[in-house]
Amino acid sequence: MRDRETVASIQMLAEQDRVILIYRHRSGGEEWKDEQYPVRIVRTPCNLGGSRSWFICPALGCGRRVAILYGGDIFACRHCYRLAYASAREDTGDRAARCADRLRARLGWEPGILNGEGGKPKWMRWRTFERLAAKHDQFVTRSMQAVALKFGPLVSDFPF
Ligand SMILES: [Zn+2]
Repeated sequence: MRDRETVASIQMLAEQDRVILIYRHRSGGEEWKDEQYPVRIVRTPCNLGGSRSWFICPALGCGRRVAILYGGDIFACRHCYRLAYASAREDTGDRAARCADRLRARLGWEPGILNGEGGKPKWMRWRTFERLAAKHDQFVTRSMQAVALKFGPLVSDFPF
């Protein structure tokens, strides 16, 4: 939930040696996207008896045995998120913020998207101003979305 609005939900079907993740997600008012895929579970014996459960990371080409999966658009281990998703998202956010700053310079606004919007420069035509301000708004939205995508952990210690 974010601002009393559902931004994501998840269901888990537990089977003998895997769990099926079924969820929908969306970002920034886009359409909901359905996901459904299995995550394999393996067990290793504990010293004092019993066993411990692990996820096998479902990301393509990974297959690491891990205790925690991180939820973004897909669930994956921290190695995968650090290598691929995290950096891709940071890049997207940074790039959008830089583009916004270039527009702010043309508009004579204070640098930094968190500093709000200034007015129309005296010498600028309204049509140009409106076009640049609308573009600026798009870049700010894109940058904020990249920052807002947080990873929530899904821990393997659930009973079944
Ligand atoms: Zn992985």
